[in-house]
Amino acid sequence: MTRYIFVTGGVVSSLGKGIISASIGKLLQARGYTITIQKFDPYINIDPGTLNPYEHGECYVTVDGMETDLDLGHYERFTGIRATQANSVTTGKIYKAVIDKERHGDYLGKTIQVVPHITDEIKHRILQHNDEVDFVISEIGGTIGDIESAPFLEAIRQLKWELGNRAVSVHLTYVPYLKAADELKTKPTQHSVKEMQGAGIQPDVLVLRTEKHLSDNIRQKVASFCNVDLECVVQSEDLPSIYEVPVNMQNQGLDAALLRKFGVPVGETPKMEGWHHFLELQRTATKEVHVGLVGKYDLQDAYKSIRESLILAGIYNHVKVKIDFINSENITKENVAEKLSNVAGILICPGFGQRGIEGKIIAVEYARVNNLPAFGICLGMQMMVIEFARNILGYKDANSSEMADTPHNVIDMMEEQKTITNMGGTMRLGAYECQLQEGSRAAQAYNAAATSPLSPLSSHLISERHRHRYEFNNKYKDEFEQNGMMCVGINPESGLVEIVEIPSHRWFIGTQFHPEYSSTVLHPHPLFMSFIKEIAQ
Ligand code: GLN
Repeated sequence: MTRYIFVTGGVVSSLGKGIISASIGKLLQARGYTITIQKFDPYINIDPGTLNPYEHGECYVTVDGMETDLDLGHYERFTGIRATQANSVTTGKIYKAVIDKERHGDYLGKTIQVVPHITDEIKHRILQHNDEVDFVISEIGGTIGDIESAPFLEAIRQLKWELGNRAVSVHLTYVPYLKAADELKTKPTQHSVKEMQGAGIQPDVLVLRTEKHLSDNIRQKVASFCNVDLECVVQSEDLPSIYEVPVNMQNQGLDAALLRKFGVPVGETPKMEGWHHFLELQRTATKEVHVGLVGKYDLQDAYKSIRESLILAGIYNHVKVKIDFINSENITKENVAEKLSNVAGILICPGFGQRGIEGKIIAVEYARVNNLPAFGICLGMQMMVIEFARNILGYKDANSSEMADTPHNVIDMMEEQKTITNMGGTMRLGAYECQLQEGSRAAQAYNAAATSPLSPLSSHLISERHRHRYEFNNKYKDEFEQNGMMCVGINPESGLVEIVEIPSHRWFIGTQFHPEYSSTVLHPHPLFMSFIKEIAQ
């Protein structure tokens, strides 16, 4: 008896549908229900894997190797679920599936149309979790009224009709405050709901995003203009942290209202002790610690999971992490000391291509020489390796073959990548096992998180997510180790180096994988915990 919650947004984008979807998931879980959350993105790319972060923020990666929207990161961080490719669907994927079926002859004799073929494929993707979980939350990307969203709305309309009280529609809108009139305006919400009604969908629950508190009168007005019960009109005010949102929604009875809509007994309000403990730690962490985020995209969303992982690890270490973005394109040998003068440690970001890498290498050198804690992720780890090769092993031309073919490609393309011609979805993606070297700093970090689901599965074996084509070149492994950079995490099947560290340094670890994808609110990632612990002292 799986039940379905459809989350849509109106008026403007960036209202935080992902946070609301994740919060609903969290609140239902707290009541003992199993859930999953899926994201429908109305663009034609098959996945965001080939998108520039300026277009779409970070690309998140699931354990089964799907490149997805960053909202999947919110879902996992809030609820601890492990999403798979079924949780992330784009218009491109839908059309590709339908066109492949058409070529295969599955619809012989028929004209293929948006309705019913595209809408049926969307419905199939929503219903594929049937009987797996108690609730499926389906978030529709984009804003109501967009041409691209129309097939998704039609699919929801049909499902609401077919599923009866097993389907509920949650619509998020914006209530702007007009300073000159000193008034909060509900008209955009009314229009947005009309748009939904025009598509044949009556929203059951309205979540009103607002910068100012909405009075009961305003909620009442919205309820009566929009045919929604008053208890189903909740407000989502700006809060100091996104992690306050589930509790704020619970306080307004959003989960109870949803359950009543489904005709499910509401029962007692769950206490969510773990979550409240976390919020308490967050509120009481006052000491500030500055981390330098060395990357090339000066955009909040570009390194979303890394930012959240740093903040979460900070909270559990009783400090408030302040992230100073440092554009690696502007780092030079002359200014590096000044640029890093304010930070207690640096994180060298993942990335692709030549732009900004020399600045990253200079930052790594500065951190290595000055014993400044440094954490390199993916391209960041590769830069640590290149810097070491250039300045310690003496290979001045050392580089990654992604950037330049030199006699010393200490980072090289993986063998299986050499024959690849299609760029989309063909990197080394998803979770791979990694054997940690006993006694290493990395192993100590993972062992310190013994109660976390992220701790070693057994005998120092961990599993982490990847997204890259290039790797540490094993030809140089002995030379690196003899000179003090140790390869302390190895893939047991392929022998690929997944973690390097310099044991003589305060904290200097690079991971070829992306630990940031598996940090959650209740279980911050062990490496982030260890890094922040070191710099919080
Ligand atoms: N560009 C590098 C590679 O493909 C690193 C990728 C990354 O940082 N995600 O190997």
